[in-house]
Amino acid sequence: MTDQPRPVFNDRYELQQRIGRGGMADVYVARDRLLDRPVAIKVLFPEFATDPNFVERFRREAQSAANLNHPNVVSVYDWGRQGNTYFMAMEYVPGRTLADILRANGRLSAHQAAEIAIEVASALGFAHRSGVVHRDVKPANILIADDGRVKVADFGIARALNSATEQDLTQAGAVMGTATYFSPEQAQGAQPDPRSDLYSLGIVLYEMVGGRPPFSGENPVAIAYKQVHDAPEPLNRLAPDVPRPFEAIVAKLLAKQPGGRYPTAGELRDDLRRFREGLPVQALALLLGGGAAAATTLPGGTANPTTALPGMPGMPPPAATTGVPRTTAMPSTPPAGATTPMARTTSVSSRPPSSGRSLNPVAPRSQPQYYEPPRRTGLYVLAGFLAIAALVAGSVLLFNFLTNEDKILEAVKLPDVRGQLIDVATKQMKDLGVEVQPIPEANSTVGENVVWDQSPIPDTVFTQGLIVTLKYNPGVVANPVPDITGRLFDEGNALLSAPPYSLLVTREDVEDAERAANVVISTDPPIGTQMKPGDTIKLIVSKGKGQETIPPLEGNTVADVEQFMTAKGFKLEFIEEESETIAEGLVIRTDPPANTALDKGSTVKVFVSIGTTQVEVPDVVGLAENDAREAIQNAELKIQVRYITVPFGDPNAGLVTIQTVAAGTKVAKASVVTVQVGKAADAPPTVPSTAPPTVPTTQATTVPPTVPTTQATTTTTTQPSTTQPTTTTTTVAP
Ligand code: ATP
Repeated sequence: MTDQPRPVFNDRYELQQRIGRGGMADVYVARDRLLDRPVAIKVLFPEFATDPNFVERFRREAQSAANLNHPNVVSVYDWGRQGNTYFMAMEYVPGRTLADILRANGRLSAHQAAEIAIEVASALGFAHRSGVVHRDVKPANILIADDGRVKVADFGIARALNSATEQDLTQAGAVMGTATYFSPEQAQGAQPDPRSDLYSLGIVLYEMVGGRPPFSGENPVAIAYKQVHDAPEPLNRLAPDVPRPFEAIVAKLLAKQPGGRYPTAGELRDDLRRFREGLPVQALALLLGGGAAAATTLPGGTANPTTALPGMPGMPPPAATTGVPRTTAMPSTPPAGATTPMARTTSVSSRPPSSGRSLNPVAPRSQPQYYEPPRRTGLYVLAGFLAIAALVAGSVLLFNFLTNEDKILEAVKLPDVRGQLIDVATKQMKDLGVEVQPIPEANSTVGENVVWDQSPIPDTVFTQGLIVTLKYNPGVVANPVPDITGRLFDEGNALLSAPPYSLLVTREDVEDAERAANVVISTDPPIGTQMKPGDTIKLIVSKGKGQETIPPLEGNTVADVEQFMTAKGFKLEFIEEESETIAEGLVIRTDPPANTALDKGSTVKVFVSIGTTQVEVPDVVGLAENDAREAIQNAELKIQVRYITVPFGDPNAGLVTIQTVAAGTKVAKASVVTVQVGKAADAPPTVPSTAPPTVPTTQATTVPPTVPTTQATTTTTTQPSTTQPTTTTTTVAP
């Protein structure tokens, strides 16, 4: 790319260097000429550009992500067609993918993994609240910037939760994603929901700490089968020092049924934060609280009873413990229907894959299958057995948990203070010896100063010295207007319209010679002003330099034109030009011509008349030589005189008898007009003996058109005896 001119997409993005290659596209770093910033350009492989499914996926990636404005989501700015393919312009994140980091480092500590996952969970939580499921969460799609920022990319198969346009891409239950990371329900072709992303993130967490993902296989189908049916190897076998709360979080994420996972990405993020702070995690609280919400099985917990949680009702029991058929999370009917061939499209049936045979896709999407309860026949006894086993295992675990954790002194459950006034809730907590960290965060569903979220959640068993975070609605909170100058209006609008700002945004377009159109110049009130949700803010947006129309200027003086056009913002270049019709010093025309609309600041060429060099030849025949000279010189022409000798006393003596250029002819200024002037011959002898010779008078003498140059007096004399005149030529400058 260095030797050749760099390709420029859309007349705007100048490709510089390829930085990556994915399953369907190349990624380049490029320079956005308009906003003068680096961008990443993803270019769909041309062979896919003819496949409407890929183009649709690509378009949707652009659309899904373009609507997501979050610090942990790679922003998508633009997309379009280029040549025979399509491209997408997005935020350039200098750094490495998590996949690159894992390849280089092998594995991360649980705390490092939690730090990354907290950011990813923030991004997912935001996307989910915006109605978008990512559906392809994997290390290759998690970018870690050089400055440590974590960004989730490639909402390539993301979709709006309620989008009807999905049908084409999931017809016949085709599943898109990456088998290693997709959830059991995705593996079965059912509609993934936000909790499917949490499962994938669970796999990523497992891989970050364990050094490899929990399930691998010969082909995507084999892996997908394991996602549905197999329990992962215990994480502590791969990483013996993995903290138990971390294992519990991963286990909760890897629950085969979505109901066993965290209900939202926000709750996962909170639990990861608790882990980071060394606080009891919600995933472990179940041990003590009776398991009201979620069912958790530590990965491969059966191999390590001290870290295993019992299977919960509706959950697939750990295989190695029971040896019973795994009947949950399976379709009740055999898969049917054909799958549209797509990249990495895999579906898993209830039967294990036989080697080399691709499995039939699942039933149509109208029948989600991953919540299908197991067939009950013959399982009641088994269920009873499992319940008892679960109770016993739970008790053992609880005992083990409490006795092994030095910090836990007594099992006191955290009360539920949600719905109470913050002051009341704080007092209640303090009475229990719990420190409160109040966080004001707007929530329109509760009244002012009412607690709406607490962390750790109610029923968490806590130790002395616990700090509980209480989120309460402080009423209307003002936020400083963030600096959005230099950003596109759409970006600024999206940011300010969304929480926590929730401002009403208006715009005013003004001309700006510096900034490109649609770029925010300033805000009113200005950046940094404290504003409350619902307040109105005006964004002053550039409409570029603005345009003006060139008026007709013909016939105006240079001074007038200069004053008028400069006031309109144009630069002028004056060019002199001859004109027969426009007097010297006046404007003839402009380039671009009158009535053209032009950007302000552009240069307009103004053509100014220098008059014309064409003059009319005067009629000088019959004039005395001096008069003829004057007439010709007055006409800004040059005169050349040829003298012709005429007889003494000839009336033509001293007069112009011929002019070479006819009177009235238009010629260039300073052209030479040759005239013939009669010159009297000497007087005859006083005593003439004979009759005077015949003297030719004005008979034509052919005057050569060329004019002798500078000789002052070239004289040709003919004998007076002949009829030939004597000719003298003189060139006279005007
Ligand atoms: P697939 O799209 O098939 O899932 P993928 O996610 O590995 O594959 P891409 O999203 O096409 O691939 O990206 C390929 C590589 O380009 C990434 O692994 C990363 O190294 C780089 N890359 C992608 N997007 C950006 C970005 N916004 N900034 C910097 N690098 C990026």
